[in-house]
Amino acid sequence: MIIDEQNYDVIIIGTGAGGGTLAYKLAATGKKILILERGNFMPLEEQNISHVDLFKKDRYHAPEKWYDTSGEPFSPQTNYAVGGNTKIYGAALLRMREKDFEAVQHQDGISPEWCLKYQDFEPYYTEAEQLYKVHGKSGQDPTEPPRSMDYSYAAVNHEPPIQEIVDAIASQGLHPATLPLSLTRQNDDPTGDAEVFGISLVLGFPNVTLKTDAKVVCLHTNGSGNQVKSVETEINGQKYLFSADIIVLACGAINSAALLLRSANEKHPNGLANSSDQVGRNLMKPLMTAMVQLSATPNSGKFPRTVCLNDFYWGDGDFPYPMGHIQNTGGLLQELIFAESPPILSVLAKVIPDIALEQLAKRSIGWWVQTEALPDNQNQVRLKGEKLYIDYTPNNLEAHDRLVYRWIDTLKQVEKTLEDSLFKRSRIYPRSEIPIQVTANHCGTCCFGEDPSTSVLDLNCRTHDVDNLYVVDGSFFPSSASVNPTLTIIANALRVGEHLTYS
Ligand SMILES: Cc1cc2nc3c(=O)[nH]c(=O)nc-3n(C[C@H](O)[C@H](O)[C@H](O)COP(=O)(O)OP(=O)(O)OC[C@H]3O[C@@H](n4cnc5c(N)ncnc54)[C@H](O)[C@@H]3O)c2cc1C
Repeated sequence: MIIDEQNYDVIIIGTGAGGGTLAYKLAATGKKILILERGNFMPLEEQNISHVDLFKKDRYHAPEKWYDTSGEPFSPQTNYAVGGNTKIYGAALLRMREKDFEAVQHQDGISPEWCLKYQDFEPYYTEAEQLYKVHGKSGQDPTEPPRSMDYSYAAVNHEPPIQEIVDAIASQGLHPATLPLSLTRQNDDPTGDAEVFGISLVLGFPNVTLKTDAKVVCLHTNGSGNQVKSVETEINGQKYLFSADIIVLACGAINSAALLLRSANEKHPNGLANSSDQVGRNLMKPLMTAMVQLSATPNSGKFPRTVCLNDFYWGDGDFPYPMGHIQNTGGLLQELIFAESPPILSVLAKVIPDIALEQLAKRSIGWWVQTEALPDNQNQVRLKGEKLYIDYTPNNLEAHDRLVYRWIDTLKQVEKTLEDSLFKRSRIYPRSEIPIQVTANHCGTCCFGEDPSTSVLDLNCRTHDVDNLYVVDGSFFPSSASVNPTLTIIANALRVGEHLTYS
């Protein structure tokens, strides 16, 4: 074991949406910062993979196995690299709705109230949208929360066939809106992520050190258990101990919880910061169904997601409970999670030669239908020896089914309207829910709150039990909302960064 004699002000573990953004926020304070990231920089050609090959291989699956409740192993689709999962994400950065921060009755239970409200997050949402160059247009979506400032970057135009569909949806009295996207506007690396807008901006700072291929395996506390005193890390097969005044976990909701559980010791027998027994619990994987609409005319297969629709977010005429959010998927030749979604194109991919698959993808318009998952104590990250288990039973299924069928009705109308141009009348809408190995949009596991007996983190995302330990990634969410989580993770990292600036 090599003991690094330096004492840092802050150690940040992980460089995804939470860690990468926090590093950016703290770098200019002059604090001495060590960033530990288990992955390395991702080559550009790997990031921008846009080929039918995507549908055939387990791309971006971590080289490790996790286990489901029945003990079946699977390779999680999670990305260990500088920038974390934002290196492979769709870059749709949406604000949660005002009511998402309140207790809301869903058909299958209650989505709990947050201890901070939309107004508390609003300034940080604005800062996050500026930092990540979010291109959007306000005023189109009736569920959109109030903003202190309009988007600084204009929304991108829809592809021509998508514009036709948007118009046809609007003609039904619905409100399709432009999807806010983080974009660099650079051809070689078009999507904005936590490397581009976080880590790469701090690498020149003399007070910041980044160590890649540095996997943190355990946090050690002092004798009384109220301070993390060292961070055990594997680098090139060698073990190191690093220390700092403040330690920030930002490994993603599943890996941060696993690391806390792995760091159990005499003072913390059930896992570090786990006196509440809540570490790892209330994992939420929002329900997502991928849906294909077959079009008569081909498209490029490579265009960004640009449309979203929230008319059914809070319910529909005959269903007074929240249903969720809809987005188009973007061109199917570049849609990563879509490729994971059996039995649509990925199953066809196994039997059809490349060229047929490519043509199929180009004649398809994809949609994501997303519904909030409710927190459930039994849905959890759990360790048994070295093995990481994900116990997960989806909930809120009826609301999701309602949304899927409501969307099929909408698409049928669209096809009727565009029968002469874009669509032959389709009788089928192949669809599939995402499998357990896709952990995109997951959150929860270390909920923040005021009561140490029911939450892991306080309002500043510091653990209730360990004074110098923070968690700044998707773990802190008390509820998942139906919109994607990353803008809220980024905004929260900026908020906690402000707090740490003065700590
Ligand atoms: C295919 C795909 C598409 C997506 N599309 C969208 C989208 O359009 N919009 C949206 O809002 N969200 C999207 N998401 C979700 C988004 O990527 C996540 O919400 C976000 O990246 C989570 O941020 P995080 O900081 O919690 O964790 P991550 O981004 O996962 O970062 C965790 C980091 O910690 C590192 N790490 C883990 N364990 C250790 C360890 N032991 N030691 C050191 N380092 C460690 C990892 O390598 C990684 O860099 C998508 C996700 C996927 C997979």
